[in-house]
Amino acid sequence: MPQELDQVDIAILNSLIEDGRKSFRQIGREIKISTPTVQARYRRLVNLGFIKSVSPVLDMSKLDKKYQKEIKPISQAKTSKVKSDGNLSVKVSCDFCEQPISGKPKVMKFGEYERFFCCTSCRSLYKEKYGGRIHSLSN
Ligand SMILES: [Zn+2]
Repeated sequence: MPQELDQVDIAILNSLIEDGRKSFRQIGREIKISTPTVQARYRRLVNLGFIKSVSPVLDMSKLDKKYQKEIKPISQAKTSKVKSDGNLSVKVSCDFCEQPISGKPKVMKFGEYERFFCCTSCRSLYKEKYGGRIHSLSN
């Protein structure tokens, strides 16, 4: 089942695309929602695998000309803003078997992390495989 992204999620994404080092408080002030809400929404977007990483935007014109050619492919990878008047949804795939999840995902929470599974057996297999790591993260 695809996970819905509403206008708040989209506003957070666009704010981060502008400057990925903004604090949750700054983003909250900008789009007029509370800091804990920004934090929770951000975590969800990371847990869903939609935000893969936050990377710096470089000003290539500051770089010595002779190096500019070498670094060009990186600068072209800049993310464009998300434009949508309605809601968006992201596909969720099972964190164990990597198949797309069609029904309601089985969720496993540990600490601030969330993992999504297509069925309970994938969830238990995942737990078995990564049990030690999960235990250390939830403490
Ligand atoms: Zn699965």
